[in-house]
Amino acid sequence: MCAAWRRRVATRGVVVSAKDLSGGFDWPKMAHEAGLTTIATHVGPEDVIPFMQSDAGKRFVDSCVRYGISVEHELHAMDYLLPRSLFDREPELFRMNEAGVRERKANCCVTNPRALEIIAQRAVEVARICRPTTGRYYFWPSDSSLVCKCPNCREFSASDQALLVENAIVAALRREVEPFATLSHLAYTVTLGVPKAVRPDSGLFLEFAPFRRWGGTKKRIPLVEGGEWLARLDALLEVFPRESAQVLEYWLDESLFSGWKKPLVKIPWDAAQTRADMEAYSKRGIRHLTTFAVSVNGDYVKEFGEDSLECVKEYGRL
Ligand SMILES: [Zn+2]
Repeated sequence: MCAAWRRRVATRGVVVSAKDLSGGFDWPKMAHEAGLTTIATHVGPEDVIPFMQSDAGKRFVDSCVRYGISVEHELHAMDYLLPRSLFDREPELFRMNEAGVRERKANCCVTNPRALEIIAQRAVEVARICRPTTGRYYFWPSDSSLVCKCPNCREFSASDQALLVENAIVAALRREVEPFATLSHLAYTVTLGVPKAVRPDSGLFLEFAPFRRWGGTKKRIPLVEGGEWLARLDALLEVFPRESAQVLEYWLDESLFSGWKKPLVKIPWDAAQTRADMEAYSKRGIRHLTTFAVSVNGDYVKEFGEDSLECVKEYGRL
């Protein structure tokens, strides 16, 4: 890849779990050696808050500062932001199903002002502990296709429903945490569609996570000009700015390749395909690239040896 292309890249990151960062594996050193810019923690606030408050978390942050690595937190957050225990007292804060019944599970009633207020306030509390060094925040909806079907919400698509929540969160972050905070709009599974009814706040950036292009076989569907995946991305880039848009890929995601269970699987790294993906994204003016690298940790090295980390280094070099 040419040097001019590399100079335009603002983020070349990895997303790893708090568990990956809690063992003996030195991710900040790895990221430094690989020339990466950013490490984001994962999975949810219930994992990342205790990590950030632990000695291991403090060592991680110190180490990232020493190496000049940015720290972010990419969080499956909705269940934490609207505690499910509230359902017993205030079911109207929660999602209604097609049959008109409120359900505790997944997301919320996005037109309920009190639900949005609780969610935004809890996001502020999480942000004060899990503070990114980049001003870029990630509070994702539930990892579910279920959205609210109450009379007030049913006309809003999943993407529009996500935006209603994200607009409320980013306003609260800017008011109470940092004035230039920005927040991800995760385009992923049911939220891959272009929002139509709700305008994104100017503080939102697109985060494009093409999970389903990795399919059941864990083999990627190539990004082809005129094909489904780039068409989806291009449509989203009509609504969201290119400059701040981010891609969240699965290039190094051991957890995807192993089906989120043991035994560990060696990452089927494909440098040529990954480079082609990066070029397709770059051509569209996308400057923020990151990939899940969940389960790349001490156990992974023990299983597959030091050489198995060559893919992380190559990812940094592409
Ligand atoms: Zn609703």
